[in-house]
Amino acid sequence: MLPAKDYIEKVLGYVKKYSPGQAEFYQATEEVFYSLEPLLEEEKKYQNYSILERIVIPERSIIFKVTWMDDSGKIKTNLGYRVQFNSALGPYKGGLRFHPTVNLGIVKFLGFEQIFKNALTGLGIGAGKGGSNFNRRGKSENEIMRFCQAYMNELYRHIGKTHDIPAGDMGVGSKEIGYLFGQYKMLTSSFEGVMTGKGIGWGGSFGRKEATGYGSVYFAEQVLNKHHLELKGKKCTVSGSGNVAIYTIEKLLSMGAVPITCSDSKGTIIHEKGIDIRTLKAIKEVKRESLERYAQLHPEAIYIPIHKYPKDAHVVWSVPCDVAFPSATQNELNLNDAKNLVSNGCLLVNEGANMPTTPDALEYLRAKGVFFAPAKAANAGGVAVSQLEMAQNASMQRWSFVEVDTRLFGIMKDIFEKIDSTAKEFGDEDNLLLGANIEGFRRVADAMIDEGAV
Ligand code: NAP
Repeated sequence: MLPAKDYIEKVLGYVKKYSPGQAEFYQATEEVFYSLEPLLEEEKKYQNYSILERIVIPERSIIFKVTWMDDSGKIKTNLGYRVQFNSALGPYKGGLRFHPTVNLGIVKFLGFEQIFKNALTGLGIGAGKGGSNFNRRGKSENEIMRFCQAYMNELYRHIGKTHDIPAGDMGVGSKEIGYLFGQYKMLTSSFEGVMTGKGIGWGGSFGRKEATGYGSVYFAEQVLNKHHLELKGKKCTVSGSGNVAIYTIEKLLSMGAVPITCSDSKGTIIHEKGIDIRTLKAIKEVKRESLERYAQLHPEAIYIPIHKYPKDAHVVWSVPCDVAFPSATQNELNLNDAKNLVSNGCLLVNEGANMPTTPDALEYLRAKGVFFAPAKAANAGGVAVSQLEMAQNASMQRWSFVEVDTRLFGIMKDIFEKIDSTAKEFGDEDNLLLGANIEGFRRVADAMIDEGAV
């Protein structure tokens, strides 16, 4: 039996060797594994049952060609992925990302994070993730539809309502889910809860669209409440202007906080009196335009295009705030950004996106006493409500928005309490990253042991 640290390093060595070029996947495994050291030291059974070696390998990785035709009649190809990572706790569950940066390493990093996130919800869901390097920017409505149909022409054989239930992620919103679901139905002749994030009129759940953003804010409030603080009246910076960012901003506004920024891949808006949610939704959800338009409609807001960002830093994190909500993409908050946040007195970094904080930024924030809410806990609201959508589909019921939102709040509070007490149990109070990793891992690893060598 190796000391815990040596065991971790041995398995990380395999990961590096057998996953070449998958930097994000390696980053995610390293972050989880190192924080498991106190647990692995105490509980030798995990090494005995080779849990690290097993948990780091997806149960199945499917890579496929997606061939479709653009509006001019030209044949296009993209790569499609679905990584079915771990089914110890239930059917594979996790979103699809359509973005030009998608590759196997990105899908594996997201799928690996999903294992622990789904475990933390306390619900019966395993972990998967998928996507494509398809870029929806500049594509017509018909091209997006044809791509989604072509993607589903292969994916449908690998999914099913009790086997693998995909949802949305970056680049996959309700429109794309509709096209994917429609094609699944055509191919299988069955109308079933095989995807979540569906439209309200055809099997979707109230509150799913809002769930990740609202859940992220509920989680932040729990962290602050523990320290006799609250979001009300706090200045908040939010990055992104997609699904997670929009509903983070909406919930912050309703709780009396002041969200003063949002961003997209082209620039950042700073609006000191608070982001106007109606304008933001009209620009980003309805018209899918650039944020530059926001400043045209609100001349008192400032628009900063990315070529004017400070060197090696993000403008959003240089705006003084009490709470920061990175809600766009991975590694969007680096060491320079962390320094800016600290020097401006930021109290809490609450991760809405997956792995938005780089490891050195994270270390710096912790060293300076900034509270840190890790993605696998703070953004678990989306997958939790996806599971509620599955439950409604299976029982042919429809719950009200209030019912779903109340359950979401309860789940986020429960996640906070569980990981906070786990951090305490391991002698590192307020280290919510440690708490989340140990708590999520323990649940999955114990199930893997119970289910035998499969
Ligand atoms: P989305 O609706 O596609 O929005 C993504 C936003 O991030 C857009 O505003 C996009 O700008 C911006 N963005 C993308 N790449 C960027 C870059 N390199 N630099 C700056 N901005 C960039 O995606 P989402 O669903 O909100 O997801 C955001 C994050 O949350 C992702 O990490 C995702 O994995 C995570 N997440 C999502 C859910 C969910 O339920 N949707 C659940 C859990 C976690 P443009 O508008 O210019 O493209």
